Amino acid sequence: RNGMFLGNRYESTAAASDASDPPAEKYEYQAEVSRLMDLIVNSLYSNKEVFLRELISNASDALDKLRFLSVTEPDLLKDGVDLDIRIQTDKDNGIVTITDSGIGMNRQELVDCLGTIAQSGTAKFLKALKESKDAGSDSNLIGQFGVGFYSSFLVADRVVVSTKSPKSDKQYVWEGEANSSAYTIRQETDPEKLIPRGTRLTLYLKRDEKGFAHPERIEKLVKNYSQFVSFPIYTWQEKG
Ligand code: ADP
Ligand code: MG
Repeated sequence: RNGMFLGNRYESTAAASDASDPPAEKYEYQAEVSRLMDLIVNSLYSNKEVFLRELISNASDALDKLRFLSVTEPDLLKDGVDLDIRIQTDKDNGIVTITDSGIGMNRQELVDCLGTIAQSGTAKFLKALKESKDAGSDSNLIGQFGVGFYSSFLVADRVVVSTKSPKSDKQYVWEGEANSSAYTIRQETDPEKLIPRGTRLTLYLKRDEKGFAHPERIEKLVKNYSQFVSFPIYTWQEKG
């Protein structure tokens, strides 16, 4: 259970580099996303642990999508990789990594999903925010609606998403920072970081939130959430 996951290197068909793909492209967030990120980054919302519930739920959705598609396209699972979720903690460096072997995202999906407000929950959040008059209500609303992927920025000041669709031979990396109006996307070129399929989120925790990289803390939260998830969730810790 100690650092085994990092030791495993997967064979992958992803090309290590491709001259046709520019090294790193910068994208501006949609205006609503910028607003939402500002709110999240600056909010006094105290229940920050909800980030893990949101990210586990995204991982579970991604695995569900792949399982569903594989009924008609069994080849999608031909890499033989299990459908599961792995959460790794590195408390010395304040890093939490959440990996799923689900459907992943291609470059366009990264832009559509992690740069705009495409999802209904977050759109409802912004609508409710507009309609609410009380100061400080943004905190209540974050808890009530959930802010999906962007909840990563409740605890992290840098988020890296490395992802590969089983339908593509390329793996892409999305990188965003709290307090920035832009994010970047590039192709993954580090052979040690290639995954057979799915998504790996790396959260570089804020100085005050590094406690979330303690394995006991993560394991306790995972225990609470995992009862709603139909895929195995493994937790690992980086060897100290
Ligand atoms: P929601 O889950 O309500 O759609 P999120 O903000 O949590 O909203 O996620 C936005 C979108 O980003 C998801 O709908 C999905 O398309 C994509 N996404 C997020 N996490 C993952 C993941 N682990 N694997 C694949 N796609 C993901
Ligand atoms: Mg979600």
